Amino acid sequence: MSNSKRVYIAYTGGTIGMQHTPEGYAPAPGFLAEQMAEIPAFRSPLMPQYVINEYSPLLDSANMTPDEWLKIARDIADHYDDFDGFVVLHGTDTMAYSASALPFMLQGLNKPVILTGSQIPLCEIRNDARENLITAMLIASDYAIPEVCLCFGDLLLRGCRSAKVSAIGFQAFASPNFPPLGRIGIDVEINWDLVNAPIHKPLEVQAFEQPQIAVLRLFPGISADFVRNSLRAPLRGVVLEAYGVGNGPSKNRAFLDALAEATAAGVLIVDCSQCLEGLVDLESYAAGSALARVGVISGYDMTTEAALAKMFYLFSQDLPLEEVKRLMQTNLIGEITRPYPLRRAHR
Ligand code: ASP
Repeated sequence: MSNSKRVYIAYTGGTIGMQHTPEGYAPAPGFLAEQMAEIPAFRSPLMPQYVINEYSPLLDSANMTPDEWLKIARDIADHYDDFDGFVVLHGTDTMAYSASALPFMLQGLNKPVILTGSQIPLCEIRNDARENLITAMLIASDYAIPEVCLCFGDLLLRGCRSAKVSAIGFQAFASPNFPPLGRIGIDVEINWDLVNAPIHKPLEVQAFEQPQIAVLRLFPGISADFVRNSLRAPLRGVVLEAYGVGNGPSKNRAFLDALAEATAAGVLIVDCSQCLEGLVDLESYAAGSALARVGVISGYDMTTEAALAKMFYLFSQDLPLEEVKRLMQTNLIGEITRPYPLRRAHR
């Protein structure tokens, strides 16, 4: 029996296809395809037919920008009708950002788009590249998951819930606030109850404008002047990485004033937790409600990556700020658990 499905591989760069250079690992044109040609598994009739589009230049994903997200989204859209599924080979460093941005860009997606990469290049004797690539290709061809997913190690994750959690382990990604869409063991077990319902409308690429947005991580002793300077125009939105369930230094009046001035000037401040697991609840503590009183809104259980991507997406449409705020706190593509099913009992 042979696999008649067709998979399109968008190879953007990343460790998976890198080779040794005097400056360390770097991507090299043609090298990944050469490596794949030497591995019999990729010629197995059980594997889907595939086409590789090698991007130029190949990037270490530390160099990704929203322009590259758009290039990937348009590439997928251009080949959408000719393939059953799509694999995006990507460096791990910013894979969770791309996996969060692409579902906002690929409106109406009804086929699997699976991002993967590896911690060790395919050219090394010991590597995680071979398994990750084969698994991603098989999932893209054989499972009708109408979502952008991130496949790595033993897990298939919703892209916009994923975060890089290890720089050294083979299980480099997790989605602590959302169960995996699939577990990869002896069998590939997909949790179909969690997979988004198919969408029956044409695929449309939503380009992002590049509004000034930022991430601001709180730390004990953060200076109000630094916060005030960071939040100045033309900044339009910031993901505030606050403590625990969204708390900040509520006894620091100058800090609160800096936030209040920014929100009064129309800057969107979305509170996401520094913790990977759990959700922001600005009513739990006085140290959280003080932020709400100066106009900070809750990002609930969104990752920073998803909140940033959503800001790019919402600011790219001509929406009044109040509508941006409302949508920021509404589940659009599975990026946020709203309404939250349980009231937490953390007190
Ligand atoms: N620096 C690499 C990248 O993100 C790391 C990796 O792929 O694992 O492209």
